[in-house]
Amino acid sequence: MEYRNNDPGAVQYGNFINYYKFNNAGQRVKLLPPDVWLTSEDIESKETYLALDVGCNAGNLTQLLYTFLNKCLGVPRNRETKILGIDIDADLVKRAEVGNEYPQNVSYSNLDIMDSEGFEHVKKYLRQNNRKTFDAVCCFSVTMWIHLNHGDEGLQQFLQKLSDISELLVVEPQPWKCYQTAVRRMKRAGDEFPLFADLQWRTNVENTIQDFLENNLGRKKIFECLPTRWQRRICFYR
Ligand code: SAH
Repeated sequence: MEYRNNDPGAVQYGNFINYYKFNNAGQRVKLLPPDVWLTSEDIESKETYLALDVGCNAGNLTQLLYTFLNKCLGVPRNRETKILGIDIDADLVKRAEVGNEYPQNVSYSNLDIMDSEGFEHVKKYLRQNNRKTFDAVCCFSVTMWIHLNHGDEGLQQFLQKLSDISELLVVEPQPWKCYQTAVRRMKRAGDEFPLFADLQWRTNVENTIQDFLENNLGRKKIFECLPTRWQRRICFYR
């Protein structure tokens, strides 16, 4: 593997090889509330609880999310949980597969969610499970990478596409200072994010994402976790 400027931190997609050494997955899962995952309507349902984890990296958070959801929904609600974790980086997905402790319920796929073939694969997973939507779609620390690589319009499409296939949408957006760090690292490595300068959604990007979800996509925020160690807000939209 070769890195820009020999710096594994100067990455294009957030596909850091040692992500979980820095952004602890367990601490974030501890912040998740137990009681927002179902609506009063589907509380009696016994259907498999289906979740999508977008940008699953090496799968550490996905695994913990599975045990967490299983604790909330398994015995208490008699519901099985299944998660599909997807990531654009093939090496990370391989590692996620090797570390998968729940291969019956958790699966991983290497795909680009922005690419139509990639998105088709996700929809195929839904069809295979006889579903049109996921009970929950999680986007932990991925919005910035979509934004930097696909611009404002790309991020809007991303949110729209995921909103279309989710009942509950969980978003942990990166704040603006993270963009500045990513751009600085890229620059130091002699590369750049060409779309960065043209972004209109800047500075207050977390609120802009929220406004878009609420005003353009008709979603409603039902919960926000306490800030993570990295001062990120995990928000839940129905
Ligand atoms: N969700 C994890 C990892 C966040 S790092 C967590 O919060 O712990 C961001 C991840 O998103 C990286 O692993 C990166 O490879 C992935 N990613 C970025 N753009 C993507 C895309 N277009 N499609 C799929 N995965 C993507």
